[in-house]
Amino acid sequence: MKAVVIKEPGKVSLQQVEIPKPQPGFVLVKVKAAAICATDLEVLDGNISANYPLIPGHEWSGIVEAAGSFEDQYWIGKRVIGSNDVVCLKCEACRSGNWRYCKEFEEIGFKRNGAYAEYVVVPSYGLCELPEKVSFIQGAFCEPLGVALGTLEKAEAKFGDTCLIMGAGSIGLCMLAAAKAMGMKKIVVCASTEKRLKIAREMGAYATIATNNCNLQEEMKKIHPGGTDVIIDATGIESCIQQCLKLARKGGTVALAGYGRGKIMNIRMDDIHINNLRVIGAGNNWNQHKKAVNLMEDGLVNIEHFATNLLSLEEYEKGLELARKRPEGFVKAVFLL
Ligand SMILES: [Zn+2]
Ligand SMILES: [Zn+2]
Repeated sequence: MKAVVIKEPGKVSLQQVEIPKPQPGFVLVKVKAAAICATDLEVLDGNISANYPLIPGHEWSGIVEAAGSFEDQYWIGKRVIGSNDVVCLKCEACRSGNWRYCKEFEEIGFKRNGAYAEYVVVPSYGLCELPEKVSFIQGAFCEPLGVALGTLEKAEAKFGDTCLIMGAGSIGLCMLAAAKAMGMKKIVVCASTEKRLKIAREMGAYATIATNNCNLQEEMKKIHPGGTDVIIDATGIESCIQQCLKLARKGGTVALAGYGRGKIMNIRMDDIHINNLRVIGAGNNWNQHKKAVNLMEDGLVNIEHFATNLLSLEEYEKGLELARKRPEGFVKAVFLL
């Protein structure tokens, strides 16, 4: 099969590799759509723990072609998306549903081969059937949408809460879609430049703010006068996180959903302590695929338009470059197979 392989950080090529065989408990999925995520660039650059050589890709959808065990034959021929978490299912963490804390945790697209390929092997226990109504492209976006749903859940965001989203990357925009779907109020999206804020407005953001030429705190005072109930940082950038801590209302919540790249950051502790903020760590998709599919099936979330560039695997260089440069109007590049 054809696969985009990162041999080692910085070295990527399209290769012919053997179709993998699903072991018991796993299925072989014929990939139909695989989206490029900014995190994949971190894998390519060697900024994230991964096993090389690696086929990246953790945002995927497809059709089950083969099963590793008899009891999983049920899935063959089904349109699916699924969890990337490979876990033991036996330990205390797994049994309490916190797969991410499993000692044997390995993620597809990072420690195990992912979906920038014609086929990918995934665990059957993480599969979700993709309804006919939801396209393969949107299906692939259940992963980033799930990150947003998990973040709002961890932040204990409620119907009617005000919301500020820092960052208008694809995760920031997924946060917007999720916050809208759950009935949050006066949702504001901030980004350093105007470049992607038009998309946020088209998706129904109450307001958008380009932070490069304004005083964010002054602007936010006009929109959420007493501070914001729930703030989500989807940037992982020090100055943005510092702002978030100042913009939350007293007793409000700041959810940190951006990758900090190992950076040590300066935080004014009193912003948290004096104002009794809840600062929540919100990394990764936390088994939210099913909820994401349900929202898409019901039409409460439609993010099909995030797929601004559809590519073949042969065009992987173009896709990675788009994801890196993020030109005006670009949200996501998606391999269609
Ligand atoms: Zn991703
Ligand atoms: Zn476990």
